[in-house]
Amino acid sequence: DELFEPERPNSKGMDLRDIPTIERLEETRAPFRKTTWAASPLIAGKAQPKDAQPVENPYQPADSAGTVAHASDADIETALTSAKPWDADAETRGAVLAKAADLYEANVGTFFALLAREAGKTPLDQIAELREAVDFLRYYGANAPTTPLAGTFTCISPWNFPLAIFTGQIAAALAAGNAVLAKPADQTPLIAYEAVKLLHEAGVPREALQLLPGSGAHVGAALTSDPRVDGVCFTGSTATAKRIRSTMADNLAPGAPLIAETGGLNAMIVDSTALPEQAVTAIVESALQSAGQRCSALRCLYVQEDIASDLLHMLKGAAKELKMGDPWEYSTDVGPLIDATAQARFNDHIAAARAEGRVMFELDTPNTGNFLAPTMIKVGGIEDLKEEIFGPVLHVATFKANELDKVIAAINATGYGLTFGLQTRIDDRVQHVSESIHAGNIYVNRNQIGAIVGSQPFGGEGLSGTGPKAGGPQYLSRFAKRETPSVDT
Ligand code: GLU
Repeated sequence: DELFEPERPNSKGMDLRDIPTIERLEETRAPFRKTTWAASPLIAGKAQPKDAQPVENPYQPADSAGTVAHASDADIETALTSAKPWDADAETRGAVLAKAADLYEANVGTFFALLAREAGKTPLDQIAELREAVDFLRYYGANAPTTPLAGTFTCISPWNFPLAIFTGQIAAALAAGNAVLAKPADQTPLIAYEAVKLLHEAGVPREALQLLPGSGAHVGAALTSDPRVDGVCFTGSTATAKRIRSTMADNLAPGAPLIAETGGLNAMIVDSTALPEQAVTAIVESALQSAGQRCSALRCLYVQEDIASDLLHMLKGAAKELKMGDPWEYSTDVGPLIDATAQARFNDHIAAARAEGRVMFELDTPNTGNFLAPTMIKVGGIEDLKEEIFGPVLHVATFKANELDKVIAAINATGYGLTFGLQTRIDDRVQHVSESIHAGNIYVNRNQIGAIVGSQPFGGEGLSGTGPKAGGPQYLSRFAKRETPSVDT
């Protein structure tokens, strides 16, 4: 389908198996090993540094990457009054966003260092994240609509992709000609600040892109309840999305769009015909890469009983090889959780499972940083998971050959529908399962994370989000004050 062809090739990224690549990368990153950055609101083009507070490093509290000043009520008011949609023609918007992509790539050292020190991301994740951010800029830029029906959009982004999702949301809103009020996640304002500076340098007008760091309860609430806002783009928890929806309903125009990407309780089914090595690799990547801090990550694995003992034995062996540690190091596979609150939540979850004798496997936890060791917990089925578990914890259930449809029904009954994985060598089963499962992104015989802009649009259904999918052909049309005339007539 030509609609799904990206307008231009995706970023090539880097191959970490290549030693000269690592050496070059290290040269660009090393100068930022000890840098401290300062973020503040960027309102009508002016930085507002005041009352700065330290930004936490999830690996090493003593190595803070910098400080942040939060937006005040006065900053929020000034941002709302000075917001001005971007009235350049589509070609110019596209060219400016493409230039921003080039500037991002030229600043790889800053971004990789911040991804490690502010967000705890490992080198593999650093590469993937910059690559996705750049792809979003170029893809949305190349597809900028010629007749925008633009207004003012609030973009609220998560800490787990502090560059890629932050950039994706605002690149889409800007490509469609909107004025953007961007609120980065509380935990990751520094990288957002550096990104906005580059977007301005590339030519995005100051009044079309303003940055308002701060908490969801203060800045987020203000920017989703002011009638001068025409639409909201949000990525985060399902509960917060519901709150935003009701705040918008009470305060914004009735047609104001909410584009939300929310949580998931993602499953994978491995049947007895699956290739064990392929399944194990896919499970480890899907559940544990990025320390499981992806909304796409695998949370509940269903293994067919006949192969369960062998497959789980291999899985434990593979998980034992993973190295937890300093996200700066190339040898690190699993970095820390984002903060101590996340860590505490997991400790309770695992303690409860341990008390019931359901912990099947866990690695030793390093005694620095907010680490959670990869853990496997036995469950009866996905219905035992009451909420999204956002970390490197894999829940495992088994099923009998004649229970496949029961498993599919249980997965659908969660109400979430983000990603789903299937490992099988039976063609009819691929068809049957993928037609029956309610999920936005279904992956067969591979991992279930890491959607690619332009070729694998990403987004879920039900409790997992509103659609349209990010990085896909329909996404930009929602970033309008109202539906486009072609939809009306
Ligand atoms: N797009 C990411 C992926 O495919 C997940 C985004 C998220 O975690 O919010 O893995």
